Amino acid sequence: MAYVISDDCIECGACEAECPVGAISQGDGKFVIDADACIECGACAGTCPVGAPQEG
Ligand code: SF4
Ligand code: SF4
Repeated sequence: MAYVISDDCIECGACEAECPVGAISQGDGKFVIDADACIECGACAGTCPVGAPQEG
């Protein structure tokens, strides 16, 4: 399952730069992950200061 970003996201943008496949982009009020592009590497979860990306 692809990772999903929760509402805890503070829109810092750190995960977008870390994603190796460019699956993360800014959404409405939080960043979002393209489930079809995510390869479940976990880099976003390791980078996020608030633990918002979680395995879906
Ligand atoms: Fe990108 Fe990896 Fe996070 Fe998926 S788990 S959104 S591939 S950084
Ligand atoms: Fe949101 Fe975390 Fe990504 Fe920052 S690193 S944009 S807080 S999900």
